[in-house]
Amino acid sequence: MRLFKGYLLTICLALLLLLVSVTAPATEYFVQSQDEYRAISSKLVAGDTVILKNGVWTDFEIVLDGQGRADAPITLTAETKGQVILSGQSNLRLAGQHLIVTGLVFKNGYTPSSAVIDFRKNSKELAFHSRVTEVVIDNYNNPDKEESDYWVALYGQHNRLDHSHFVGKRNRGVTIAVRLNSEKSQQNHHQIDHNYFGYRPTFGSNGGETLRIGTSHYSLTDSFTLVENNYFEHTNGEVEIISIKSGKNTLRGNVFYEARGTLTLRHGNGNIVEQNIFLGNGVEHTGGIRVINKDQVIRNNYLQGLKGYRFGSGFTVLNGVPNSSINRYHQVENALIVNNSFIDVDHIHLAAGSDAERTAVPINSVMKDNLIINTNNHQPFSLFDDVSGIKLSGNVANTEVPAALEYGVQQQDLTLEKAENGLLYPVSDTMSAGAKRDLKVLSKQDTGVSWYPKLPGAVTFDSGQTHRIEKGEKALLAAIDNADEGDVIVLANGQYDVSKLVKINKTLTLKAAEEGQARLTFERSTLFEIQDGGSLKLEGLAISGAQSPDSAGNTVVRTQKWGMVENYRFVMLNSQILQLDINHSFDFFATGKGAFADEITLMGNTFENVTGDILRLNTEIEDLGIYNAEYVTIKNNTFNNVQGAVVKLYRGGTDESTFGPHLLMADNTLNQVGHGKRNKNKSSLYLHGVQVADIQQNTLVSSAPIKIEHTVGEPVTVIKGNLFDATLVPTVTELRVEGPHTAVIDDNKTVNTEKR
Ligand code: CA
Repeated sequence: MRLFKGYLLTICLALLLLLVSVTAPATEYFVQSQDEYRAISSKLVAGDTVILKNGVWTDFEIVLDGQGRADAPITLTAETKGQVILSGQSNLRLAGQHLIVTGLVFKNGYTPSSAVIDFRKNSKELAFHSRVTEVVIDNYNNPDKEESDYWVALYGQHNRLDHSHFVGKRNRGVTIAVRLNSEKSQQNHHQIDHNYFGYRPTFGSNGGETLRIGTSHYSLTDSFTLVENNYFEHTNGEVEIISIKSGKNTLRGNVFYEARGTLTLRHGNGNIVEQNIFLGNGVEHTGGIRVINKDQVIRNNYLQGLKGYRFGSGFTVLNGVPNSSINRYHQVENALIVNNSFIDVDHIHLAAGSDAERTAVPINSVMKDNLIINTNNHQPFSLFDDVSGIKLSGNVANTEVPAALEYGVQQQDLTLEKAENGLLYPVSDTMSAGAKRDLKVLSKQDTGVSWYPKLPGAVTFDSGQTHRIEKGEKALLAAIDNADEGDVIVLANGQYDVSKLVKINKTLTLKAAEEGQARLTFERSTLFEIQDGGSLKLEGLAISGAQSPDSAGNTVVRTQKWGMVENYRFVMLNSQILQLDINHSFDFFATGKGAFADEITLMGNTFENVTGDILRLNTEIEDLGIYNAEYVTIKNNTFNNVQGAVVKLYRGGTDESTFGPHLLMADNTLNQVGHGKRNKNKSSLYLHGVQVADIQQNTLVSSAPIKIEHTVGEPVTVIKGNLFDATLVPTVTELRVEGPHTAVIDDNKTVNTEKR
């Protein structure tokens, strides 16, 4: 009896405990320190809410681990959305079920682990049915640009990332990655929606994708991820904005605004791409959709104003590799390409990439009821192989098309008008080709968060205030110190003898009040050092190296020697650069390793007596597909007596993920350039692996020849209308493919060949 009573008591107690735990009221924790968070984080139960106090939290590695329920999730939020800042080495990991995180901002730091937000605690403990919403990650970059991380890594299943804002990823690594590397992360049914993807600068090699789903290794696995109603603005990292590397994903209703690159169906089968809007506005390298693999559906998309070509085209169907290994190119089979509008899309490439390896042409595919309008009347198609495996019908174009496509494309003059959704449609509403009239155009304002501004990527030169200064070093250094982003400092006539290295860490213009009348000398090994966050424009200055140290290796402008993570711009106009000859190897401009220029522009300048190079952009010599500058423009300058080259621009490696480097060199005069004994290439211009080189209307007198080495891709080189006076003609060498070089060398003139 006593025993029975004992049992009864125990059972009653157990029931009571059970009752308490089931009906435990959800607790709201207001957390003011990391210690407080750690103290409660292990006892969170379904329905609990953790509120982080407003303010800056430094080095806070948050782990949210718990078992919420669909009707009672565990929530982590901010006291005020947008006012909880995670900085330093902070990150967030989620593990368990039904977790919600909202309202946080990550900035001024970088993740110490492989992701800023990780839907897992470790390789075993993943998150399921969890949601990250209204979170901001802003320029949260590892200072070592080559150090790779993700901003968000989705693991587990049934997770959602939505209404979040991502801007300014600058170090290596995909912004958002969906990982399928274990069974528990496959067939995941994740949802990625209503996010704002802002400016992602050109990364300058592979590894700058904004969204990747899967990897080649797991690409024959289905992911079932839905990517819907996201806004991609200036997501320029590399040729792939989105890289799909798994099956059965749906990409719907997204907008790509002036974004350089494409949505690429790189690996995996049975993906659906529909109702997306690509608006290029004529920006270089804006692209659309690239199709590879089986069973892909591309329907009811609208693409307009796209300039991209080759793998970056407005629309591309690739050739495959027969019996392809998993990481190469599977043949296109059973693609359905229907009811898409291509308006002013410069390039549609079919059977693209056809070469000795990629010989498997598209098969059993359909291209139907598409509308192809080019208001410039240039037809956009390029066919690189047999395209009879793509059956065409009901397509309408306003231009002629290649003969092999004529049977399935009706040529018709059409007038377009803007519909209420802002898109162009034929005036005739009986037209059934092209995107549907009820297509919705996502508004930028309906993505991301309302409480964080969607700002443009870079401060433009001359966008700030103008400050006029007195002559002299003191006034100049003080003005540079006090200037704000985009300001212009106007230098009074007179002498500026600069005794210190001038560090440029903001966007700044230095301009002579009167051209050539502000004269600068400098006593350190360099005059200006562009540091992280800096961009420099010089205008009308006269700079002499006469007071520089009597040692080798001076520069007038250089970047920080190491550790640049932000891209920079350097522009110099109408200036005179003199006497860079106090010792040998005196360069005008030299890049540090790891530094990357969006733009380097020299226009209307004179350079005289230089013992080094003018632009030395060749520090990435490991042939990893990395380089130093995207656009180099050299126009209307005079170079007299330069022992090195006008530019050395080097991009090595076999990777095809970048558009650049680009070089435009026009209307320059070179006298006695490139003959110095330390100029190893013996050239006045040395380009290695440059993707676009346009060299026109220059005069080279008694100078070393132009040397160009083609490596990977299909580099576009034009050398036209130049005069080579006592100068050897240019050489172009193909380093990776057999046969003659592909450069266009035309209409150049050679004189005084006996003196060269
Ligand atoms: Ca890539």
